[in-house]
Amino acid sequence: MATIRSFVCIDVPPEVKAAIERLQTKLRHLPVEVSWTRPANVHLTLKFLGDVEEARLGRVGEALDEIAQAHAPFELATDRGGVFPNADRPRVLWIGVRDERGLLRALVAQVEDALAQHGFAREARPFTAHLTIGRVRSERSARELARRFLAEEFPSYRFLVTHLILMRSDLRPDGALYTPLHRAPLRDRS
Ligand code: ATP
Ligand code: MG
Repeated sequence: MATIRSFVCIDVPPEVKAAIERLQTKLRHLPVEVSWTRPANVHLTLKFLGDVEEARLGRVGEALDEIAQAHAPFELATDRGGVFPNADRPRVLWIGVRDERGLLRALVAQVEDALAQHGFAREARPFTAHLTIGRVRSERSARELARRFLAEEFPSYRFLVTHLILMRSDLRPDGALYTPLHRAPLRDRS
């Protein structure tokens, strides 16, 4: 059966992607092998689904529609940079996302619940809202990169969440290729 690698995410506005691109440019000259996320590909993952049988994706889209309709658009803001798992052994470089009213957290819990009913495994790790901007591929100078990255300021951009996106991910040698399969609009505020 054909499967499609996919995940549920939120898009971020062009000014956030542009600021991420500027930050990546500042860090690129360091002698560390990093697979930098293409700015256009930057997103906030709510739920990673992995390989999903094609026939199930329609139901995932419907579940997202139902959840999205129960929420009005709400605001998030970019925060400082951070690294997973820690600054001594950085693997993932990311920009944090502030969810002051806990609305994103509530939304993610609903997505987990709904998709668990459709047989998707629950995420064991606690949810941390972040935008991955790079993945460290070598040990060499990685700590120095983390130190420089964490010392950088990142502007606080406020942005509105208006859609949940079901995204297809095709992993290519030159980076992931993302294709939106479904966009679920949050409720109109009218
Ligand atoms: P690449 O794997 O080539 O670095 P990527 O991680 O961006 O690219 P995917 O592996 O398809 O592409 O992941 C899509 C999104 O889901 C990313 O935001 C990624 O961080 C997140 N993700 C991937 N695997 C998991 C996982 N096992 N648990 C939670 N989130 C995941
Ligand atoms: Mg990946």
